[in-house]
Amino acid sequence: MKVYMVTDIEGVAGVVSFEQQSYSEGRYNHAARKLLTAEINAAVEGFLSEGVEEVLVNDSHGSGAVVFEELHPRARLLSGVPRPPHSKMFEVISRYDVCVIVGQHAMAGAMDGNLNHTMSSKHVTSYVLNGKPIGETGVVALTCGALGKPLIMVTGDEAACREASELIPGITAVAVKEGLARNCAISVSMQQSHEMIRSGAAAAIRNHKKNPIAPLIWPGPYVFARTFFHTDTADAAQNMPGATRVDGLTVRLQSQNILDIIRW
Ligand SMILES: [Zn+2]
Repeated sequence: MKVYMVTDIEGVAGVVSFEQQSYSEGRYNHAARKLLTAEINAAVEGFLSEGVEEVLVNDSHGSGAVVFEELHPRARLLSGVPRPPHSKMFEVISRYDVCVIVGQHAMAGAMDGNLNHTMSSKHVTSYVLNGKPIGETGVVALTCGALGKPLIMVTGDEAACREASELIPGITAVAVKEGLARNCAISVSMQQSHEMIRSGAAAAIRNHKKNPIAPLIWPGPYVFARTFFHTDTADAAQNMPGATRVDGLTVRLQSQNILDIIRW
């Protein structure tokens, strides 16, 4: 089995601040990146213990957050921006059997979601697909789902885990912190987070072998509405082929094929 892993930094234990930890100019950003990399490595160990042959780590936080020299020797890293055309990324994802997310946060507006946001903490109010609000977990799960790949595990705060479990019953969800507010959380210790993620990753593989998790596929046609904080971001989004401006802050895309319109 081959695992495709999407990573983010805001769902990592001990990471609770955009300004100090998540943004690249933050004074504790490098320390936060090391915490993320260690959680990734714990997940890789868990997968390898269940016979996984290959893990590709897609460093998906902004311009990158994985500390390459500290990455598990058996993992591979996909990094660098801007990314290739979506079609190339779909081809890469198609090489793997299952998808997982490490370090995930809840969607923008989740009241107890520590560091909650959707794609951009500075630009996006909400993503709504066919009338249902979705966050980054939904975007990853639906993208991989359309390519026939199930999302079988997520790690992050309790709100991110709840969001994942509502989307995908049976998913292995590992909560390493409890959000008290957007910039405040109770985290387990670093060592405890590694133990939980290692055993969670192993359990995710075992569970999926016993009771396979289906790829997440919602019936089409698809209407995808993105609402932004400010009109300038909506102006830029309106330039995408097929986009319709709904109002000052919202741009809508419609298609029969979800892969044409879902964006990360
Ligand atoms: Zn994110």
